[in-house]
Amino acid sequence: MNRKEMLQQIESTSQWDLIIIGGGATGLGSALDAAVRGYKTLLIEQNDFAKGTSSRSTKLVHGGVRYLAQGNIKLVIEALKERGRLLRNAPHITSAQSFVLPVFSGWQKFYYSVGLKMYGILSGRLSLGRTEILSKQKTEKLLPSLRSENLKGGIKYFDGQFDDTRLSIDLASTAVYYGATVLNYCKAIGFKKKDGKITSVIIKDELNNIEYDLRSNAFINATGVFTDAVIQMDDALQHDLVSPSQGIHLVIDKKYFVGSNALMIPKTDDGRVLFAVPWHNEIVVGTTDTPITNISSEPKALEEEIEFIINHFNRYCNTSIERKNVKSVYAGLRPLVKHGNGQKTSLLSRDHTIIVAKSGLVSIIGGKWTTYRKMAQDAVNNALFISKLKFTECSTQTLPIGKWGWPIDKTNHWHVYGTNAKLIKKLTEENNLWNEKIHSLFPHIKAEIIWFVRNEMAMTVEDVLARRTRILFLDAQAAIEASPVVAELMMIEMKKDEEWKQQQIQSFKTLANQYLLQ
Ligand SMILES: Cc1cc2nc3c(=O)[nH]c(=O)nc-3n(C[C@H](O)[C@H](O)[C@H](O)COP(=O)(O)OP(=O)(O)OC[C@H]3O[C@@H](n4cnc5c(N)ncnc54)[C@H](O)[C@@H]3O)c2cc1C
Repeated sequence: MNRKEMLQQIESTSQWDLIIIGGGATGLGSALDAAVRGYKTLLIEQNDFAKGTSSRSTKLVHGGVRYLAQGNIKLVIEALKERGRLLRNAPHITSAQSFVLPVFSGWQKFYYSVGLKMYGILSGRLSLGRTEILSKQKTEKLLPSLRSENLKGGIKYFDGQFDDTRLSIDLASTAVYYGATVLNYCKAIGFKKKDGKITSVIIKDELNNIEYDLRSNAFINATGVFTDAVIQMDDALQHDLVSPSQGIHLVIDKKYFVGSNALMIPKTDDGRVLFAVPWHNEIVVGTTDTPITNISSEPKALEEEIEFIINHFNRYCNTSIERKNVKSVYAGLRPLVKHGNGQKTSLLSRDHTIIVAKSGLVSIIGGKWTTYRKMAQDAVNNALFISKLKFTECSTQTLPIGKWGWPIDKTNHWHVYGTNAKLIKKLTEENNLWNEKIHSLFPHIKAEIIWFVRNEMAMTVEDVLARRTRILFLDAQAAIEASPVVAELMMIEMKKDEEWKQQQIQSFKTLANQYLLQ
């Protein structure tokens, strides 16, 4: 993927079949779906791909044990089916993860073992492993950091895990492989209409400060928590449909949560779920569910959310953590579908909704990462129907995402690149200094940065440290320390000047400081 080539494509295309606004899970999934069906597809993203909610998940590919407890069997079955498909279609960036749910009474043991057995049965042929009822001793063995007072046992079950931004990049590059054009740092700023129907979208290339008027037969609005802003760009009188809910995660060293199993507490005091999940050699602890009105691309964790996670982690684990032990804190906004009755956001459905405006704009909201493929299928089907484009069936159910081949070695970090890993390592023949690491605590070498610039449309230091690698999310201090090296490499490769480099380092440091708990 190369941004200059993408810009040339929008300059030389007079009419698109489908334009997708928003480059998160839903938009990228839609771009891939439409491109594979053979439609002339363009996706635009105002920031970097997955800068929004899609980089800030708990990293689970899951059916949603919680939704089972809420009685939403249909959603669970659909998500379990999609979980199985994603693990099969992108095995290099997904894996099965064992979870242990500790129980503290006989009733809990009965209730959760029935539920989790059912969860396993509902996944059918796509099951990731057998659900097991555990004694107290076995639970202690599988979760060595768990407090054992009042412990009665546990239940072990399996769900999926992934790297959300690496999947985003693979979705984008696979869409491009099938003929799509994808552009980061391009914002939709207005629509043009004829007889009440949208005929074109005005976009602004934020890096070159140039506007384009792009014609298309169909338009999908996949902008997550920004959905209402785009809908209101089409029709200023439309009322809000999205109810944003913030969730935060703290990332801590794995010495505070020993072993390879994840912890799942299905119901904390205030009815939330608490996870502690091993991820990229650290532990991700989350999450919260806080209704929020201030919509931002860079949401901030609230003090009470941080306190909540630390207190609850310490309540369940024998390895007390303090603020100073947190290596990174990140917050994301769930684009939940609003209901008129003032329900708590934790009770709002995680199902997705499609709204078709009179103008032909198809907006898709809600859902989750796990179900992005099905959401994309539904969004594209609706867009085809509305625009009267000739219908072609969706074919992403078994489509491989990214470039990968068996065997996949997950003992080092290279597996996330699939078979491109070989090409990245080969870059060191061009310059053997690119064999050097960018930070002593992380395995990434300089050649990876060159690859991101040349092939993954990384435009800023943040793109590299937050989303092409995950260093910002794993260890914000290390990310700050790595930023001058990354900026220097990018400056040379992108033919920028010293002023650009300094500005990049400065703005990255300002951003990364928000991921540190002072
Ligand atoms: C705390 C938390 C934990 C979660 N954990 C999980 C999990 O473990 N597993 C799971 O399956 N799901 C999880 N989810 C849900 C999942 O992350 C989201 O459902 C999903 O990422 C939403 O993707 P999206 O594409 O709809 O939105 P986004 O990722 O927000 O993408 C929308 C994009 O549109 C862009 N945009 C907005 N306006 C414009 C414009 N005018 N022009 C161009 N672009 C624009 C934005 O910049 C943004 O990048 C979690 C969510 C949260 C908040």
